[in-house]
Amino acid sequence: MLKDLICDEFQNTVSESLVYHRSILDLLSKLQQANANISRDVIKAVTNCGCLQINAQKQAIPKDTPLGDLKRYFQTHLSGKACEHCQESIENQIGQHLFYIAAICNLLDINLYDVFIKKQKQMEILGMFNLS
Ligand SMILES: [Zn+2]
Repeated sequence: MLKDLICDEFQNTVSESLVYHRSILDLLSKLQQANANISRDVIKAVTNCGCLQINAQKQAIPKDTPLGDLKRYFQTHLSGKACEHCQESIENQIGQHLFYIAAICNLLDINLYDVFIKKQKQMEILGMFNLS
């Protein structure tokens, strides 16, 4: 099967550019740090910049709502739109996260494209029963 070139190229570039943090322990901790930075940048978009707002409350789902209709009732609790600065910052953090995901895949001899394909097929089969 022909692998996706962009995904493979990304994974190869990560392998070539990773000098420090080659230990699985370093990579796992850097992944968690990158994950925390995504949350931090979204929070800063709300609390520092103000371009995003969060208005959260308990999800109000009518009793006996059919599974197929649930999506209509679940709220994101998010309003506004990230400004250019916040959007770029969040995208950079997501890029860092993907970098460490690819690095961990390299260390474990996992092809990232194969992971995408497996997950895509799983979601297609399970549909809304995927529960994510
Ligand atoms: Zn902003």
